Amino acid sequence: MFQKAHQKLTVLCTILITSVLTVMTLVYLGVSEKNLMENQMASFQNDMDVIASNVGMQNILTREWYHTIEFNGRYMVFLTDNNIPLWMNNPSREASRDLIYDQMMEKYFSLYRQSHQNSFDIPYPVTFTFSTDENYYAYFNVIEKEDSHIMLSVVYPLHAIEKQINRQRIQFFIIDLMTIYILSRFASFLVKRILQPIETNHQEQIRFVAAASHELRTPLAVILSSIDACRQAAPSEKDNFLRSIEAESKRMSRLITDMLTLAGADNHTWNIQACPTQLDTLLLNAYESFTPLARQKNISLQITLPEEQIPDCSCDEQRITQVIGILLHNAISYSPEHSTITILLSMETKQAVLQIIDHGPGIPDAEKEKVFERFYRVDKSRSSKEHFGLGLCIAAEIMQAHHGAIQIKDTPGGGTTFVVHFPIRTCPQ
Ligand code: ATP
Ligand code: MG
Repeated sequence: MFQKAHQKLTVLCTILITSVLTVMTLVYLGVSEKNLMENQMASFQNDMDVIASNVGMQNILTREWYHTIEFNGRYMVFLTDNNIPLWMNNPSREASRDLIYDQMMEKYFSLYRQSHQNSFDIPYPVTFTFSTDENYYAYFNVIEKEDSHIMLSVVYPLHAIEKQINRQRIQFFIIDLMTIYILSRFASFLVKRILQPIETNHQEQIRFVAAASHELRTPLAVILSSIDACRQAAPSEKDNFLRSIEAESKRMSRLITDMLTLAGADNHTWNIQACPTQLDTLLLNAYESFTPLARQKNISLQITLPEEQIPDCSCDEQRITQVIGILLHNAISYSPEHSTITILLSMETKQAVLQIIDHGPGIPDAEKEKVFERFYRVDKSRSSKEHFGLGLCIAAEIMQAHHGAIQIKDTPGGGTTFVVHFPIRTCPQ
Protein backbone atom coordinates (compact mmCIF):
# COMPACT_ATOMS: atom_id res chain seq x y z
CA MET A 1 0.00 0.00 0.00
CA PHE A 2 2.72 2.48 1.03
CA GLN A 3 4.91 1.27 -1.85
CA LYS A 4 2.14 2.17 -4.30
CA ALA A 5 1.46 5.51 -2.62
CA HIS A 6 5.19 6.24 -2.78
CA GLN A 7 5.32 5.42 -6.49
CA LYS A 8 2.18 7.42 -7.29
CA LEU A 9 3.31 10.49 -5.35
CA THR A 10 6.78 10.35 -6.93
CA VAL A 11 5.24 10.15 -10.42
CA LEU A 12 2.91 13.03 -9.57
CA CYS A 13 5.79 15.18 -8.32
CA THR A 14 7.84 14.32 -11.41
CA ILE A 15 4.95 15.30 -13.71
CA LEU A 16 4.57 18.56 -11.80
CA ILE A 17 8.31 19.29 -11.94
CA THR A 18 8.42 18.43 -15.67
CA SER A 19 5.43 20.65 -16.45
CA VAL A 20 6.76 23.63 -14.50
CA LEU A 21 10.24 23.23 -15.97
CA THR A 22 8.90 22.83 -19.54
CA VAL A 23 6.72 25.94 -19.24
CA MET A 24 9.60 27.96 -17.74
CA THR A 25 12.02 26.77 -20.42
CA LEU A 26 9.59 27.51 -23.26
CA VAL A 27 8.89 30.98 -21.92
CA TYR A 28 12.61 31.67 -21.44
CA LEU A 29 13.56 30.33 -24.87
CA GLY A 30 10.70 32.25 -26.52
CA VAL A 31 11.76 35.55 -24.95
CA SER A 32 15.48 34.99 -25.51
CA GLU A 33 15.04 33.91 -29.17
CA LYS A 34 12.77 36.88 -29.84
CA ASN A 35 15.36 39.26 -28.35
CA LEU A 36 18.14 37.59 -30.32
CA MET A 37 16.25 37.97 -33.60
CA GLU A 38 15.31 41.58 -32.81
CA ASN A 39 18.93 42.44 -32.00
CA GLN A 40 20.05 40.71 -35.16
CA MET A 41 17.56 42.67 -37.25
CA ALA A 42 18.60 45.95 -35.57
CA SER A 43 22.27 45.25 -36.23
CA PHE A 44 21.46 44.30 -39.89
CA GLN A 45 19.50 47.51 -40.28
CA ASN A 46 22.44 49.56 -38.92
CA ASP A 47 24.93 47.86 -41.21
CA MET A 48 22.64 48.50 -44.20
CA ASP A 49 22.43 52.20 -43.36
CA VAL A 50 26.25 52.34 -43.27
CA ILE A 51 26.59 50.47 -46.60
CA ALA A 52 23.96 52.63 -48.31
CA SER A 53 25.64 55.86 -47.20
CA ASN A 54 29.03 54.47 -48.34
CA VAL A 55 27.65 53.67 -51.79
CA GLY A 56 26.10 57.12 -51.96
CA MET A 57 29.41 58.86 -51.11
CA GLN A 58 31.88 56.71 -53.11
CA ASN A 59 32.56 57.80 -56.67
CA ILE A 60 34.59 54.71 -57.54
CA LEU A 61 33.64 51.35 -56.03
CA THR A 62 36.83 49.32 -55.53
CA ARG A 63 37.26 45.58 -54.91
CA GLU A 64 38.70 46.29 -51.43
CA TRP A 65 35.74 48.37 -50.52
CA TYR A 66 33.44 45.64 -51.80
CA HIS A 67 35.14 43.03 -49.64
CA THR A 68 34.85 45.31 -46.65
CA ILE A 69 31.13 45.78 -47.05
CA GLU A 70 30.60 42.05 -47.49
CA PHE A 71 32.15 41.71 -44.02
CA ASN A 72 34.17 38.70 -45.19
CA GLY A 73 31.21 36.85 -46.59
CA ARG A 74 28.70 37.72 -43.90
CA TYR A 75 26.56 39.63 -46.42
CA MET A 76 25.88 38.98 -50.09
CA VAL A 77 25.93 42.37 -51.81
CA PHE A 78 24.45 42.90 -55.31
CA LEU A 79 24.95 46.20 -57.13
CA THR A 80 23.71 47.44 -60.51
CA ASP A 81 24.69 50.73 -62.04
CA ASN A 82 21.99 52.03 -64.42
CA ASN A 83 20.63 48.48 -64.44
CA ILE A 84 24.03 46.99 -65.44
CA PRO A 85 25.33 44.51 -62.87
CA LEU A 86 28.71 45.55 -61.51
CA TRP A 87 31.76 43.22 -61.81
CA MET A 88 31.32 41.93 -58.28
CA ASN A 89 28.10 40.19 -59.31
CA ASN A 90 29.91 38.08 -61.88
CA PRO A 91 28.00 34.76 -61.99
CA SER A 92 31.27 32.82 -62.22
CA ARG A 93 31.94 33.68 -58.59
CA GLU A 94 29.11 31.66 -57.11
CA ALA A 95 26.21 30.41 -59.16
CA SER A 96 23.99 30.02 -56.12
CA ARG A 97 24.32 33.72 -55.30
CA ASP A 98 22.47 34.71 -58.47
CA LEU A 99 19.73 32.24 -57.64
CA ILE A 100 19.38 33.77 -54.19
CA TYR A 101 19.41 37.26 -55.75
CA ASP A 102 16.59 36.24 -58.14
CA GLN A 103 14.54 34.76 -55.30
CA MET A 104 15.07 37.84 -53.22
CA MET A 105 13.91 40.14 -56.04
CA GLU A 106 10.94 37.87 -56.67
CA LYS A 107 9.96 38.18 -53.03
CA TYR A 108 10.54 41.91 -53.10
CA PHE A 109 8.26 42.38 -56.10
CA SER A 110 5.64 39.99 -54.74
CA LEU A 111 5.56 42.02 -51.53
CA TYR A 112 5.30 45.45 -53.11
CA ARG A 113 4.00 44.97 -56.65
CA GLN A 114 0.34 44.69 -55.63
CA SER A 115 0.30 48.06 -53.91
CA HIS A 116 2.66 49.71 -56.40
CA GLN A 117 1.64 48.75 -59.92
CA ASN A 118 4.21 50.98 -61.51
CA SER A 119 7.60 49.34 -60.90
CA PHE A 120 9.30 52.77 -60.76
CA ASP A 121 7.18 53.64 -57.78
CA ILE A 122 8.19 50.64 -55.74
CA PRO A 123 9.44 51.65 -52.29
CA TYR A 124 13.01 51.73 -51.04
CA PRO A 125 14.90 51.33 -48.84
CA VAL A 126 13.12 48.23 -47.50
CA THR A 127 14.13 45.41 -45.22
CA PHE A 128 12.29 42.09 -45.34
CA THR A 129 12.75 38.38 -44.80
CA PHE A 130 12.48 35.59 -47.33
CA SER A 131 13.08 31.86 -47.42
CA THR A 132 14.43 29.36 -49.89
CA ASP A 133 16.05 26.30 -48.37
CA GLU A 134 17.26 28.74 -45.75
CA ASN A 135 15.96 31.92 -44.18
CA TYR A 136 17.41 35.34 -45.05
CA TYR A 137 17.15 38.99 -44.19
CA ALA A 138 17.13 41.15 -47.28
CA TYR A 139 17.70 44.85 -47.98
CA PHE A 140 16.87 46.75 -51.13
CA ASN A 141 17.70 50.35 -51.95
CA VAL A 142 18.14 52.60 -54.96
CA ILE A 143 20.76 55.29 -54.62
CA GLU A 144 20.38 58.19 -57.02
CA LYS A 145 23.55 59.87 -58.20
CA GLU A 146 24.09 62.68 -60.73
CA ASP A 147 24.48 60.44 -63.79
CA SER A 148 23.44 57.07 -62.49
CA HIS A 149 21.19 55.25 -60.18
CA ILE A 150 22.65 52.39 -58.27
CA MET A 151 20.47 49.50 -57.08
CA LEU A 152 21.83 48.03 -53.86
CA SER A 153 20.53 44.63 -52.69
CA VAL A 154 21.95 42.83 -49.68
CA VAL A 155 21.11 39.36 -48.41
CA TYR A 156 22.01 38.06 -45.00
CA PRO A 157 21.71 34.27 -44.47
CA LEU A 158 20.32 33.45 -41.04
CA HIS A 159 21.87 29.98 -40.71
CA ALA A 160 24.49 31.15 -38.17
CA ILE A 161 21.94 32.59 -35.79
CA GLU A 162 19.58 29.64 -36.36
CA LYS A 163 22.44 27.33 -35.50
CA GLN A 164 23.01 29.33 -32.32
CA ILE A 165 19.29 29.08 -31.46
CA ASN A 166 19.27 25.32 -32.10
CA ARG A 167 22.38 24.85 -29.95
CA GLN A 168 20.71 26.80 -27.15
CA ARG A 169 17.57 24.63 -27.46
CA ILE A 170 19.59 21.41 -27.26
CA GLN A 171 21.53 22.72 -24.26
CA PHE A 172 18.29 23.57 -22.48
CA PHE A 173 16.78 20.20 -23.38
CA ILE A 174 19.78 18.37 -21.85
CA ILE A 175 19.80 20.61 -18.76
CA ASP A 176 16.02 20.06 -18.34
CA LEU A 177 16.39 16.28 -18.64
CA MET A 178 19.14 16.24 -16.02
CA THR A 179 17.18 18.56 -13.70
CA ILE A 180 14.05 16.41 -14.04
CA TYR A 181 16.05 13.27 -13.25
CA ILE A 182 17.74 14.82 -10.19
CA LEU A 183 14.52 16.41 -8.90
CA SER A 184 12.54 13.20 -9.40
CA ARG A 185 15.14 11.28 -7.35
CA PHE A 186 14.89 14.00 -4.71
CA ALA A 187 11.06 13.86 -4.83
CA SER A 188 11.20 10.09 -4.37
CA PHE A 189 13.48 10.52 -1.34
CA LEU A 190 11.30 13.29 0.11
CA VAL A 191 8.05 11.35 -0.39
CA LYS A 192 9.66 8.37 1.35
CA ARG A 193 10.67 10.58 4.28
CA ILE A 194 7.14 12.04 4.50
CA LEU A 195 5.46 8.63 4.32
CA GLN A 196 7.85 7.04 6.84
CA PRO A 197 6.10 8.25 10.04
CA ILE A 198 2.66 7.42 8.59
CA GLU A 199 3.87 3.92 7.71
CA THR A 200 5.44 3.44 11.14
CA ASN A 201 2.24 4.63 12.76
CA HIS A 202 0.21 2.26 10.60
CA GLN A 203 2.45 -0.67 11.55
CA GLU A 204 2.13 0.28 15.22
CA GLN A 205 -1.66 0.35 14.92
CA ILE A 206 -1.61 -3.12 13.34
CA ARG A 207 0.64 -4.44 16.12
CA PHE A 208 -1.55 -2.76 18.74
CA VAL A 209 -4.75 -4.32 17.40
CA ALA A 210 -3.07 -7.75 17.11
CA ALA A 211 -1.71 -7.56 20.67
CA ALA A 212 -5.02 -6.24 22.07
CA SER A 213 -6.96 -9.06 20.39
CA HIS A 214 -4.47 -11.54 21.74
CA GLU A 215 -4.86 -10.19 25.30
CA LEU A 216 -8.66 -10.12 25.07
CA ARG A 217 -8.93 -13.64 23.68
CA THR A 218 -7.59 -15.32 26.81
CA PRO A 219 -10.05 -13.88 29.37
CA LEU A 220 -12.92 -14.31 26.91
CA ALA A 221 -12.05 -17.98 26.43
CA VAL A 222 -11.89 -18.47 30.21
CA ILE A 223 -15.25 -16.69 30.70
CA LEU A 224 -16.97 -18.76 27.99
CA SER A 225 -15.62 -22.06 29.24
CA SER A 226 -16.49 -21.11 32.86
CA ILE A 227 -20.07 -20.30 31.80
CA ASP A 228 -20.31 -23.69 30.10
CA ALA A 229 -18.88 -25.46 33.12
CA CYS A 230 -21.09 -23.45 35.46
CA ARG A 231 -24.23 -24.65 33.66
CA GLN A 232 -23.31 -28.27 34.23
CA ALA A 233 -21.74 -27.87 37.68
CA ALA A 234 -23.38 -28.87 40.95
CA PRO A 235 -24.78 -25.87 42.91
CA SER A 236 -21.95 -26.06 45.45
CA GLU A 237 -19.30 -25.74 42.70
CA LYS A 238 -20.96 -22.86 40.83
CA ASP A 239 -19.44 -20.25 43.11
CA ASN A 240 -15.92 -21.16 41.97
CA PHE A 241 -16.80 -20.63 38.31
CA LEU A 242 -18.58 -17.37 39.03
CA ARG A 243 -15.51 -16.09 40.89
CA SER A 244 -13.33 -16.99 37.93
CA ILE A 245 -15.76 -15.23 35.54
CA GLU A 246 -15.69 -12.15 37.78
CA ALA A 247 -11.85 -12.11 37.93
CA GLU A 248 -11.51 -12.44 34.15
CA SER A 249 -14.18 -9.79 33.55
CA LYS A 250 -12.30 -7.38 35.85
CA ARG A 251 -9.10 -8.14 33.97
CA MET A 252 -10.81 -7.43 30.66
CA SER A 253 -12.29 -4.26 32.06
CA ARG A 254 -8.85 -3.05 33.19
CA LEU A 255 -7.35 -3.88 29.81
CA ILE A 256 -10.12 -1.99 28.00
CA THR A 257 -9.69 1.01 30.34
CA ASP A 258 -5.94 1.04 29.61
CA MET A 259 -6.52 0.79 25.88
CA LEU A 260 -9.06 3.61 25.98
CA THR A 261 -6.57 5.75 27.90
CA LEU A 262 -3.96 5.18 25.20
CA ALA A 263 -6.50 5.77 22.43
CA GLY A 264 -7.31 9.10 24.14
CA ALA A 265 -3.62 9.98 24.11
CA ASP A 266 -3.40 9.11 20.41
CA ASN A 267 -6.44 11.22 19.52
CA HIS A 268 -5.28 14.05 21.79
CA THR A 269 -8.65 13.91 23.52
CA TRP A 270 -7.06 13.80 26.93
CA ASN A 271 -8.22 16.51 29.20
CA ILE A 272 -5.31 17.49 31.45
CA GLN A 273 -6.82 19.41 34.34
CA ALA A 274 -3.79 21.20 35.65
CA CYS A 275 -3.99 22.79 39.07
CA PRO A 276 -1.47 23.65 41.81
CA THR A 277 -0.43 20.31 43.28
CA GLN A 278 1.81 19.44 46.19
CA LEU A 279 3.92 16.57 44.91
CA ASP A 280 5.03 15.54 48.40
CA THR A 281 1.40 15.13 49.50
CA LEU A 282 0.66 13.00 46.43
CA LEU A 283 3.67 10.82 47.20
CA LEU A 284 2.70 10.39 50.85
CA ASN A 285 -0.81 9.31 49.78
CA ALA A 286 0.63 6.81 47.27
CA TYR A 287 3.06 5.55 49.90
CA GLU A 288 0.15 4.87 52.26
CA SER A 289 -1.94 3.16 49.57
CA PHE A 290 0.85 0.83 48.45
CA THR A 291 2.26 -0.05 51.84
CA PRO A 292 -0.23 -2.94 52.39
CA LEU A 293 0.57 -4.42 48.95
CA ALA A 294 4.31 -4.19 49.64
CA ARG A 295 3.79 -5.74 53.06
CA GLN A 296 1.98 -8.72 51.46
CA LYS A 297 5.24 -9.44 49.59
CA ASN A 298 7.39 -8.67 52.63
CA ILE A 299 8.83 -5.68 50.79
CA SER A 300 9.89 -2.64 52.76
CA LEU A 301 8.55 0.57 51.20
CA GLN A 302 10.39 3.74 52.20
CA ILE A 303 9.91 7.39 51.36
CA THR A 304 12.37 10.31 51.49
CA LEU A 305 11.11 13.84 50.89
CA PRO A 306 13.23 17.01 50.75
CA GLU A 307 13.37 19.09 53.89
CA GLU A 308 12.80 22.40 52.15
CA GLN A 309 9.37 23.53 50.99
CA ILE A 310 8.53 22.21 47.51
CA PRO A 311 6.78 24.73 45.25
CA ASP A 312 3.37 23.73 43.95
CA CYS A 313 3.55 22.00 40.61
CA SER A 314 0.98 22.67 37.89
CA CYS A 315 -0.32 19.22 37.00
CA ASP A 316 -3.32 16.94 36.82
CA GLU A 317 -3.43 15.31 40.25
CA GLN A 318 -5.27 12.19 39.15
CA ARG A 319 -3.00 11.53 36.20
CA ILE A 320 0.19 12.03 38.23
CA THR A 321 -1.20 9.73 40.92
CA GLN A 322 -1.74 7.20 38.11
CA VAL A 323 1.94 7.52 37.05
CA ILE A 324 3.18 7.04 40.61
CA GLY A 325 0.82 4.05 40.97
CA ILE A 326 2.09 2.42 37.75
CA LEU A 327 5.73 2.77 38.85
CA LEU A 328 5.11 1.59 42.41
CA HIS A 329 3.00 -1.31 41.20
CA ASN A 330 5.80 -2.36 38.83
CA ALA A 331 8.45 -2.02 41.53
CA ILE A 332 6.44 -4.19 43.92
CA SER A 333 5.46 -6.70 41.19
CA TYR A 334 8.99 -7.25 39.88
CA SER A 335 10.98 -7.02 43.16
CA PRO A 336 11.79 -10.15 45.15
CA GLU A 337 10.49 -10.69 48.66
CA HIS A 338 12.34 -8.99 51.55
CA SER A 339 13.77 -6.31 49.31
CA THR A 340 13.47 -2.54 49.71
CA ILE A 341 11.77 0.02 47.49
CA THR A 342 12.56 3.71 48.04
CA ILE A 343 10.49 6.68 46.93
CA LEU A 344 12.82 9.68 46.71
CA LEU A 345 11.80 13.24 45.85
CA SER A 346 14.38 15.99 45.27
CA MET A 347 14.40 19.50 43.86
CA GLU A 348 16.53 20.71 40.99
CA THR A 349 16.46 24.02 39.12
CA LYS A 350 13.00 24.41 37.66
CA GLN A 351 12.10 20.77 38.17
CA ALA A 352 11.21 18.23 40.81
CA VAL A 353 12.76 14.80 40.40
CA LEU A 354 11.05 11.67 41.67
CA GLN A 355 12.98 8.40 41.87
CA ILE A 356 11.47 5.00 42.55
CA ILE A 357 14.37 2.74 43.41
CA ASP A 358 14.00 -1.00 43.63
CA HIS A 359 16.39 -3.91 43.98
CA GLY A 360 14.64 -6.29 41.64
CA PRO A 361 15.93 -8.07 38.51
CA GLY A 362 16.64 -4.79 36.70
CA ILE A 363 15.95 -4.02 33.05
CA PRO A 364 18.73 -4.82 30.53
CA ASP A 365 20.02 -1.80 28.56
CA ALA A 366 18.66 -3.19 25.29
CA GLU A 367 15.14 -3.31 26.76
CA LYS A 368 15.16 0.07 28.48
CA GLU A 369 13.46 1.86 25.56
CA LYS A 370 11.31 -1.05 24.49
CA VAL A 371 9.48 -1.34 27.81
CA PHE A 372 7.72 1.92 26.87
CA GLU A 373 6.22 0.24 23.79
CA ARG A 374 2.65 -0.97 23.91
CA PHE A 375 2.16 -4.55 25.13
CA TYR A 376 5.91 -4.97 25.51
CA ARG A 377 7.10 -7.11 28.42
CA VAL A 378 10.62 -8.14 29.18
CA ASP A 379 9.24 -11.57 30.03
CA LYS A 380 8.18 -12.63 26.52
CA SER A 381 6.34 -15.72 27.73
CA ARG A 382 3.43 -13.48 28.80
CA SER A 383 2.68 -16.08 31.38
CA SER A 384 1.63 -13.51 33.94
CA LYS A 385 -2.08 -12.93 33.76
CA GLU A 386 -1.87 -9.73 35.77
CA HIS A 387 0.23 -7.70 33.39
CA PHE A 388 -0.54 -6.48 29.90
CA GLY A 389 2.57 -4.41 29.17
CA LEU A 390 0.64 -1.13 28.99
CA GLY A 391 1.52 0.56 32.30
CA LEU A 392 4.77 2.28 31.28
CA CYS A 393 3.49 3.57 27.96
CA ILE A 394 0.49 5.12 29.74
CA ALA A 395 2.86 6.70 32.29
CA ALA A 396 5.11 8.03 29.48
CA GLU A 397 2.10 9.53 27.64
CA ILE A 398 0.93 11.24 30.84
CA MET A 399 4.38 12.70 31.53
CA GLN A 400 4.66 13.87 27.92
CA ALA A 401 1.34 15.68 28.29
CA HIS A 402 2.84 17.39 31.35
CA HIS A 403 6.04 18.31 29.45
CA GLY A 404 7.95 16.00 31.79
CA ALA A 405 9.83 12.75 31.15
CA ILE A 406 10.55 9.28 32.53
CA GLN A 407 13.98 7.69 32.45
CA ILE A 408 15.20 4.25 33.47
CA LYS A 409 18.50 3.79 35.28
CA ASP A 410 20.18 0.84 36.93
CA THR A 411 20.12 0.86 40.71
CA PRO A 412 23.68 0.58 42.04
CA GLY A 413 24.04 -2.99 43.32
CA GLY A 414 21.23 -4.26 41.06
CA GLY A 415 17.64 -3.30 40.36
CA THR A 416 15.80 -0.56 38.53
CA THR A 417 15.46 3.14 39.24
CA PHE A 418 12.68 5.02 37.47
CA VAL A 419 13.44 8.74 37.33
CA VAL A 420 10.50 11.08 36.69
CA HIS A 421 11.13 14.76 35.88
CA PHE A 422 8.33 17.21 36.72
CA PRO A 423 8.81 20.70 35.36
CA ILE A 424 7.77 23.15 38.05
CA ARG A 425 5.39 25.49 36.34
CA THR A 426 3.10 27.81 38.20
CA CYS A 427 -0.58 27.24 37.65
CA PRO A 428 -2.71 30.06 36.18
CA GLN A 429 -4.76 31.37 39.12
P1 ATP B 1 0.77 -3.63 33.07
O1 ATP B 1 1.52 -2.54 33.75
O2 ATP B 1 0.05 -3.24 31.87
O3 ATP B 1 -0.04 -4.43 34.00
P2 ATP B 1 3.43 -4.59 32.69
O4 ATP B 1 3.81 -4.24 34.08
O5 ATP B 1 4.00 -5.82 32.10
O6 ATP B 1 1.87 -4.66 32.52
P3 ATP B 1 4.68 -2.14 32.04
O7 ATP B 1 4.35 -1.56 33.34
O8 ATP B 1 4.55 -1.29 30.85
O9 ATP B 1 3.80 -3.40 31.73
O10 ATP B 1 6.13 -2.72 32.10
C1 ATP B 1 6.67 -3.28 30.93
C2 ATP B 1 7.74 -4.28 31.29
O11 ATP B 1 8.85 -3.61 31.87
C3 ATP B 1 7.29 -5.26 32.31
O12 ATP B 1 6.62 -6.34 31.72
C4 ATP B 1 8.60 -5.68 32.97
O13 ATP B 1 9.15 -6.70 32.22
C5 ATP B 1 9.46 -4.45 32.84
N1 ATP B 1 9.48 -3.69 34.10
C6 ATP B 1 8.75 -2.62 34.43
N2 ATP B 1 9.07 -2.16 35.65
C7 ATP B 1 10.06 -2.96 36.11
C8 ATP B 1 10.81 -2.99 37.32
N3 ATP B 1 10.64 -2.12 38.29
N4 ATP B 1 11.74 -3.96 37.42
C9 ATP B 1 11.96 -4.85 36.44
N5 ATP B 1 11.28 -4.85 35.27
C10 ATP B 1 10.33 -3.94 35.11
MG1 MG C 1 3.17 -2.48 34.91
